[in-house]
Amino acid sequence: MSFLRNWSKTLLLSELRGGLAVTFRNMLRPKVTVQYPEEKAPQSPRFRGLHALRRYPNGEERCIACKLCEAVCPALAITIESDIRDDGTRRTTRYDIDLFKCIYCGFCEEACPVDAIVETRIHEYHMENRGENIMTKDKLLAVGDRYEAMIAADKAADADFR
Ligand code: SF4
Ligand code: SF4
Repeated sequence: MSFLRNWSKTLLLSELRGGLAVTFRNMLRPKVTVQYPEEKAPQSPRFRGLHALRRYPNGEERCIACKLCEAVCPALAITIESDIRDDGTRRTTRYDIDLFKCIYCGFCEEACPVDAIVETRIHEYHMENRGENIMTKDKLLAVGDRYEAMIAADKAADADFR
């Protein structure tokens, strides 16, 4: 019986016609291909991309060198050294993130008690030279300074989700 069924399917080209029907049906539908980079898909405010260190509005860096982010990082991508400043506050003297080790899990951002380290929505970056995978404190602060408006808006949108 199954032999006859297979034989008739072959003779009537039913599988070929079924495939063509799918093709013709989708030919008239609107295209869903995104023409990146001219077109971009929407991003969540929780997107985890390039890291940044933030400052308070008065320019003071938020990070208090508690090292929670370094401790929680499962990839051991964060290296922090710290010292006490003249005013008695503790600040980092070194804050490095190795982007080759990072798995973009967001744990550092979750652990930070002062919203200092964040992952931005920036994902279009590349490296050309050896060592550029290390995001130093200066580089992280520069990203934070440049994109603070976007980071603050994403934080506010994220708070609405919770
Ligand atoms: S995103 Fe995850 S892996 Fe990357 S630095 Fe933060 S805690 Fe480490
Ligand atoms: S970024 Fe946040 S969690 Fe990491 S050392 Fe600074 S204050 Fe602590």
